Amino acid sequence: MQPLLQVNHLRKIYGQKSATCTALERIDFTMNRGEYVSIMGPSGSGKTTLLNMVSTIDSPSFGSILYDGVDITQMKTRALSDFRRVNIGFIFQDFNLLDSLSAKENIALPLALSGVGPKEIESRILEVATHFGIEDHLHKYPYQLSGGQKQRTAAARAIIRSPKLILADEPTGALDSKSSADLLQSLADLNESQNTTIMMVTHDAYAASFSKRVLFIKDGLIHAEIIKGHSRKEFYQRIMDMIASLGGSADDIA
Ligand code: ADP
Ligand code: MG
Repeated sequence: MQPLLQVNHLRKIYGQKSATCTALERIDFTMNRGEYVSIMGPSGSGKTTLLNMVSTIDSPSFGSILYDGVDITQMKTRALSDFRRVNIGFIFQDFNLLDSLSAKENIALPLALSGVGPKEIESRILEVATHFGIEDHLHKYPYQLSGGQKQRTAAARAIIRSPKLILADEPTGALDSKSSADLLQSLADLNESQNTTIMMVTHDAYAASFSKRVLFIKDGLIHAEIIKGHSRKEFYQRIMDMIASLGGSADDIA
């Protein structure tokens, strides 16, 4: 079967003429259906740039990104918004919830926008809210929720249309360790039980250890890859060792 995602010779240069910045030199990798991959690398190494191109928020300077065999970098605006709506769920570091809507309304939004009926919306909301353990907080507004509850609300919204691909940019970046662990476990469960493909950018070795493969970006290239073995603990140690060998402390990988 062809991979869900094929990233080929991807290059991104920001700016023009003398004021250019090469964010990505050349990135090549593939992701199969059901994979859970973390992208790690030092601050400024192009992690967010890569994610933004896969999510079609930004376009590359060179190269292609095939999703199910179709080059999404060549899609026109209309097709792009359909593509994003149907196939991709986003989770951002700063949650991106709408303050004027309750948790429930925030989660319902993607379904309501696609014309799904109220009964089905109710049952889907209960299902995803239960998965992320926020079923008792659905009536609250974002300002009444903790950081962890906000991020679990955002995650529930991201998966409510059952997208094939979840893209997460530092999803635990603003969370305490308990909330991080809860969110990471829920995402890993989702990957296991629904076979949802997940690509997560993170600077945190602990977060990355919940995924099954880590790609390290350095100087705009994929510098190394580690694949999970038997245990998360052992995976975590190998990720920490790789960070150290890349020449930094865990702290300056951000
Ligand atoms: P990371 O997420 O790994 O910290 P980014 O992808 O945000 O890194 O940034 C990679 C590089 O590209 C950095 O040097 C950054 O300054 C630069 N960059 C990112 N976005 C822009 C932009 N819109 N315009 C110019 N340079 C940018
Ligand atoms: Mg970033």
